Amino acid sequence: MQVSKSEKLEKILETTKTCKACNLHKNRCKCVFSKGCENAKIMLIGEAPGKKENEEGKPFIGKSGQQLYDLLSKVGFNPEQDIYFCNVVKCRPVKNNKDRKPYKKEIETCAKFLNSQIEIVNPKIIILCGNTAKNIFKINEPMKTVHGKCFENNGLKLVPIYHPRASILDNVKLSDFKKVYKMYREF
Ligand code: SF4
Repeated sequence: MQVSKSEKLEKILETTKTCKACNLHKNRCKCVFSKGCENAKIMLIGEAPGKKENEEGKPFIGKSGQQLYDLLSKVGFNPEQDIYFCNVVKCRPVKNNKDRKPYKKEIETCAKFLNSQIEIVNPKIIILCGNTAKNIFKINEPMKTVHGKCFENNGLKLVPIYHPRASILDNVKLSDFKKVYKMYREF
């Protein structure tokens, strides 16, 4: 019997909900696994859940999530239908009650879940939202030189973009999303 993508993803989600493989589990209210469409040709990978995401269990639902949705919608995407959203780590990194970047060890420990998501969803394009997502794909140049550019990796198109929170003009962010939308329309 063939197992569907959603069944496979559900199985991994169940594992992440109780995962204690790194210290981030101590901050977890809800595991933040994904949202959007598992049959999408585009995956968007962010960094980590923030406070609101941790409370509600969905990525990109805070203020920067709304900014991201606005930019995606402006260039023509229907975000929930066209894109599968997830993060590098599934539990919220916190220091002194504030969001922080995940540590290298935490990223490495959680990578198995992200790798499974990529394998199952099997996107054509991955948008790497922010430096943490960019760096895990070994794109080491600074964001200011690589944002909006396409990097080929085993037939997969990788496009780094600024995080919606980044203090860069919206026009720059919009122009990068326009490029991604053009690529998407070519498939
Ligand atoms: S961040 Fe990932 S590896 Fe760490 S506890 Fe959460 S699910 Fe497990």
